[in-house]
Amino acid sequence: MKRVKVKLPSKRMVIRERKKKPKIQKCAICKKPLHGIPKLRATELKKLAKSEKRVERPYGGYLCSKCVREIMRERARKIA
Ligand SMILES: [Zn+2]
Repeated sequence: MKRVKVKLPSKRMVIRERKKKPKIQKCAICKKPLHGIPKLRATELKKLAKSEKRVERPYGGYLCSKCVREIMRERARKIA
């Protein structure tokens, strides 16, 4: 819980508690914010379907598209 000072109409300052907002998920390699991932708390994420929580791609929700592309290229080079 996060404590917030709220000013009442009677000009009194009161401390209220608010739920903390989670941080944006970031790519594990380049640390850029990931797209398509909801910014919700763990209990709220539970209510969503798996496909709503991440991008449907290998490493979706963990790496960004550019880093995945780079990894796939690297693998193709090793196999060939
Ligand atoms: Zn990345």
